[in-house]
Amino acid sequence: MADDASNIEKYVISMRRQFHEYPELSFQEEQTEGVIAEELEGMGLRPVLVPKGGLYADIKGGTEGKTVALRADMDALPVREENDIPFKSRNDGVMHACGHDAHMAMLLGVAKSLMQKRDQFNGTVRLLFQRAEEMPPGGAVELIKAGALKNVDCVVGQHVMSDAPAGIVAVFQKECMANADEFRIRIHSKGGHGAYPHTGVDTLMIGSMLVVQAQTIVSRMLDPTEAAVVTFGKMDSGFRYNIIAAHTDLRGTVRTFSEAGRDKCEKSLKEMAANLCKTYGAEFEFEFLRGYPALINNPEIVSVVESVARKVVGEKNIIHPKPQMGGEDFAYYAQQVPSAFYFLGTTDKNETNPGANHSPQFSIDESALSKGTRLMEEIALKLLL
Ligand SMILES: [Zn+2]
Ligand SMILES: [Zn+2]
Repeated sequence: MADDASNIEKYVISMRRQFHEYPELSFQEEQTEGVIAEELEGMGLRPVLVPKGGLYADIKGGTEGKTVALRADMDALPVREENDIPFKSRNDGVMHACGHDAHMAMLLGVAKSLMQKRDQFNGTVRLLFQRAEEMPPGGAVELIKAGALKNVDCVVGQHVMSDAPAGIVAVFQKECMANADEFRIRIHSKGGHGAYPHTGVDTLMIGSMLVVQAQTIVSRMLDPTEAAVVTFGKMDSGFRYNIIAAHTDLRGTVRTFSEAGRDKCEKSLKEMAANLCKTYGAEFEFEFLRGYPALINNPEIVSVVESVARKVVGEKNIIHPKPQMGGEDFAYYAQQVPSAFYFLGTTDKNETNPGANHSPQFSIDESALSKGTRLMEEIALKLLL
C-alpha cells in the first residue's frame, strides 16, 4: 500500500526521534550511517558508502534526464542535552543540537515519497547524506572527491533554524554563509622582571595592542559595503603578576564573503603583528587556517526554491534575512555546481525563549518537518523539469 502524506510525516518524525536519541560526533557517524543505509535499502535503493564522507543514493525516474542532488548532514555536537523529552540523547555529552537529525529524517521522507512516484518524473534525484558538517575539513569534500557530484546539475540543502517559528522559510539570493577562517598568532620574547620593563620585552602588551589595532581592519581597511568580522576569542599570556610575559598566544576567527576581503584580512593581521613585534623587539609566528569557503547561492536555483516555498508555506511565510556570518561546508557543493541553501524555521511559536542552534536547549517543533519534507521533494521535482 502506498504511503500517504500523513504516513510519511509519521515516518519522518519517528526517524528524527531515533537519530536524536543516538547522536554521533563528526566523522564518527557509523551507527547513523548504518541506519540510513538500511532504510534506503529497505526502499529498494542502493546506497554508495564513502569513507569519511557519508553515503549517497540515486532515485531514478521514468526516463533519462537531469540529476538534482539533495543534501542532509549527519553529525551531532559535543553538547549535553538539557531537554526533558522521551527521546533525549542517550549518548552522554553528545546532542543533535543543530537539527541534523531532522535533516536526515526529512531526506529519508523525501526518498520514501519519491520511490512511489518514479513514473511521474524524469531524471535522477541523488540523496547526499553527509558526515561531519560541524568539523572542518568536513565531509562534503570527501563526498565530492568520491564522485558524488558526478553528472549532478544542481544541489539543494535545507537547514533548520531556531530563530524563526515553525514553517517560516528563509531564502538568500546569493551570499548565504561566510568564509569561516581561523588565525593563530604566537608572540615570543625574552620576557623580564616586572619592575624592570626596559630590560625585557613585553609580549602581553604587544598582544593587547594587536587586539585593539586589529579592530581597524574591518572599520578602516575593508570596503565598508562588504560584511566582515575579525574576532579574537582567546588570549593566553603570562603566569605571575610581577613577571613580564615572554609568550602570548592569540586565537580568533575572520569571517568574510569575498576572496579579496579574506586575503586583505589575512595580510593586514600579519602585517600588524609583524610591525608591532618589530617595534618592540619580539618574534612571532602566524597561521591563517582557511576553513569553509563562503556559501554563495545561485539565484536561478533560489528562484525555484522560492516559487515552491510560496506554494508550500505561502508568500507571507517567506523571509529574506541578511547573509549569515556562520560557516557551512555545503559551500563546497555550491563551488562546483549551481546550488541553493535555505533555512526552515523550526521553533515552537509559543516558545518565548527558544534554545539557539548549538545550545543544550535546542529543540524542534516537529510540525515543521512535513513542510520541510514536501519542500525538498517539490523543489527537486521542479528542478528536474
Ligand atoms: Zn551547526
Ligand atoms: Zn548545522
